[in-house]
Amino acid sequence: MLSMPTVCWLCRMPLALPAQGICSLCLRQLSVATPCCPRCGLPSLHTHTECGRCLLHPPFWQRMIFVTDWQPPLREWVKQLKFFGATALSMMLARLILLSWLTARRQGLLDKPDLLLCVPLHRKRAWQRGYNQMDDITRHLAHWTGCPYAAAGVKRQRQTRIQHQLRASARKRNLRGAFRVERAVKGLHIALVDDVITTGSTVGEISRILLAAGAASVQVWSLCRTL
Ligand SMILES: [Zn+2]
Ligand SMILES: [Zn+2]
Repeated sequence: MLSMPTVCWLCRMPLALPAQGICSLCLRQLSVATPCCPRCGLPSLHTHTECGRCLLHPPFWQRMIFVTDWQPPLREWVKQLKFFGATALSMMLARLILLSWLTARRQGLLDKPDLLLCVPLHRKRAWQRGYNQMDDITRHLAHWTGCPYAAAGVKRQRQTRIQHQLRASARKRNLRGAFRVERAVKGLHIALVDDVITTGSTVGEISRILLAAGAASVQVWSLCRTL
């Protein structure tokens, strides 16, 4: 396991606050260059109103924020976090999500949620990896935003095939009945945290069952969005 570095993860500059993980200069270069739709997160001319795709086929969630596109350095960090158990990265990555959230809040695009949830791993996969890295990240976010976090609020009730090996239509079939809401969410504004959004079918399916269970709205927070 890596220990908390006292230098920037990118440029190796010494940091005043080690927990920040990344210096302000590197941070500025991480922002998404392409304007994106505030709902689906895909490229769009308008960053404050929903794109045509969302108007035609609205996703089950209402807002989406992410740090960057699926590209280095985020891509490498997410891989390290996922496959090599680099838990020292989680605080820095949580902070990047927090900064994206604060920016969207300042722009008036997001309400403060009532509850944080994170996309669950199946027990078997969590056991293979030893931990759920997004659980760690969501705990930091709950602490900093002051929003409660229900760690077991959504359960995966059966093992699904690895999503990225499937085509879009098969992904939807693969996910039907895969999750269960384990907590009262009626009337609540929910933020759902995931590491990488590709087609959005996983967060879409969880948003769908949250709304069916009475949630008022769902916003998706993630590290990367494939554009
Ligand atoms: Zn730096
Ligand atoms: Zn859109």
